[in-house]
Amino acid sequence: MLGVRRPESYPMVVVPDDPADVDRLPDSRKQVHAAFLYDLCVKTLSAGIDGGEDPLDMNFPETGPPAVVASRVCGVCQGTCCHLGKARAFLDAAAIGRFVTRSGIADPLDIVHAYTAYLPQISVKDACVYQTDQGCTLPRWMRADICNAYRCQGLKQAERMIRDHETSRLYVVVRKDNRITRAAFVQYHRIRNYPLTISCTAGKKC
Ligand code: SF4
Ligand code: SF4
Repeated sequence: MLGVRRPESYPMVVVPDDPADVDRLPDSRKQVHAAFLYDLCVKTLSAGIDGGEDPLDMNFPETGPPAVVASRVCGVCQGTCCHLGKARAFLDAAAIGRFVTRSGIADPLDIVHAYTAYLPQISVKDACVYQTDQGCTLPRWMRADICNAYRCQGLKQAERMIRDHETSRLYVVVRKDNRITRAAFVQYHRIRNYPLTISCTAGKKC
């Protein structure tokens, strides 16, 4: 029915599920985020900038974002780990320091404007303010280190399989409370949901 050839050749990985609805991002949450960001920028700038090691540098694959096939695993999961980002989006002094170094923007208000320009109109309810049903709205280089570096057990397993078996295909099972809630066949960029009725959107790593 899905037109998947040799489904048995797709190694299986399991990722967590924490379904959430999307809704208009309330102004109150935007304001909390802007206030948090402003304080963080003031503190970071007065303490001196240290952007640290750039996690997007591909010389540091352990801390950089996952490669394409692995990132589709997050796409099937739909960003469960981003739900914890809430109004702070995991942003910290290192992320702000790197932003200042890369952009040359060093005024707290300007930094806040640069970030809040990416706040979506519609976001995942009660999750990270930048999380939408299409993934993260922040460019990778503006995200916190943990956003690019974090891997749940399922994503680590997927990366191991891709590396060790040189595979570009995976069968991704999404599980909550020891029950399978949905699944998808992933091949290169392509995600084929099983069952077909489930729509799939990008996760945080996309
Ligand atoms: S790392 Fe990827 S697969 Fe794992 S919970 Fe986060 S978004 Fe889902
Ligand atoms: S990756 Fe994006 S949506 Fe996810 S926690 Fe980080 S900033 Fe928020």
